[in-house]
Amino acid sequence: MTMQIENHPRSKKAGRVKVIQPRTNRDSGSLTSAHPSLGYTNGRDNHDSRGIKAYAAQSATAALGPFGIQRRDVGVHDVQIEILYCGVCHSDLHQIRNEWNMTVYPCVPGHEIVGRVTGVGREVKKFKEGDLAGVGCMVDSCRTCSSCQAGFEQYCEHDPVQTYNSKDTHLGGVTYGGYSKSIVVDEAFVLHVSDKLNLAAVAPLLCAGITTYSPLRRWKVGKGQKVGIVGLGGLGHMAVKFARSFGAHVVLFTTSPEKGADAIRLGAHEVVVSKDQGEMNKHLNSFDFILDAVSAEHDINAYLNLLKLDGTLTLVGLPQKPLGIAAFNLIGRRRQFAGSMIGGIAETQEMLDYCAAHGIVSDVEVISMEQVNEAYERMLKGQVKYRFVIDMASL
Ligand code: NAP
Ligand code: ZN
Ligand code: ZN
Repeated sequence: MTMQIENHPRSKKAGRVKVIQPRTNRDSGSLTSAHPSLGYTNGRDNHDSRGIKAYAAQSATAALGPFGIQRRDVGVHDVQIEILYCGVCHSDLHQIRNEWNMTVYPCVPGHEIVGRVTGVGREVKKFKEGDLAGVGCMVDSCRTCSSCQAGFEQYCEHDPVQTYNSKDTHLGGVTYGGYSKSIVVDEAFVLHVSDKLNLAAVAPLLCAGITTYSPLRRWKVGKGQKVGIVGLGGLGHMAVKFARSFGAHVVLFTTSPEKGADAIRLGAHEVVVSKDQGEMNKHLNSFDFILDAVSAEHDINAYLNLLKLDGTLTLVGLPQKPLGIAAFNLIGRRRQFAGSMIGGIAETQEMLDYCAAHGIVSDVEVISMEQVNEAYERMLKGQVKYRFVIDMASL
């Protein structure tokens, strides 16, 4: 099966112009207990029999296939989005194969969502029908804990509601993600998307983009710093673009020598094939910051040894098995080993705005929904340049 590179911005689809207002009796009577103050309508009451087309995994060993899901009716603070594109993150693959031992089946993955608003609740302020909109890895959080109050909803002390495979506080069961035709999300967790950028190439910004932008900002990556990015995949290629854009000297570490030319084109100043010990040794004790975006087991000590005094290695990759850290590699130069998970809503909007201002998008290969199983296999073989994005018109 052949796949096509998307070169041209998709023409805008006219949104269905329909304002969905909750009925008065729902407004007053049937608010869910999860967020009573926010005026959600109660999903169970609104549950209907309409099937929304989606793709789901039914077990850890099954291929994804067609599946019908429900979405809640549009509550007063909700935005209904027709999904146009959804990126394919390696986390989707970890999840559908239950590599983190937390997947509930059927599982509808997808958290790099862009689309067009087709309905808004009465109290919605930020969006109107026809707007472009994005949804990332979270669709809600407690909003009251210190993390949420500080704008770090991803670190909500009560755990954020993930876009898929989280407890669905409206309909019961688990949340279903973006491999589907539409989604309904509280406006507080919906992002504005620029109409100046290729929409398919914007989708991966909602996870791969923010997951790399956030730690690079947090550790103040910029001019005068030597920064390493480990792994040229969906996250890694966005990290290279951002680190270069922020002014750092960027070194890309890869296990795939054939990706070298791409890495330079994407913004790396140097490329190191990590299997080449001689090349690795040339960079010992020299990095201010390293971002590790590798999806599988690998030797983390090889990268700790490249940090200079007080340098930081931040992990964003989520390998299935624990990584073994040798204590001497940390203490010797007062090195720091850290982790980072996606980004808060405000920072995600900041990242999207930064991308719009600087013309930054993901390098994508657009696929049809039925190609997703093949895409996973290619992702595992490192044959993606550098993010698969599903065209939901094919569903
Ligand atoms: P991806 O596109 O598959 O890229 C992963 C890259 O890791 C590959 O391109 C490859 O780069 C490298 N790699 C793969 N297997 C390796 C191995 N055995 N040894 C060394 N390097 C290897 O995946 P992704 O979507 O970017 O996601 C990367 C990881 O981040 C996943 O574990 C994902 O779950 C996680 N993630 C975390 C967050 C977060 O919030 N922290 C968010 C999203 C995703 P080279 O070919 O260049 O070596
Ligand atoms: Zn992701
Ligand atoms: Zn919270």
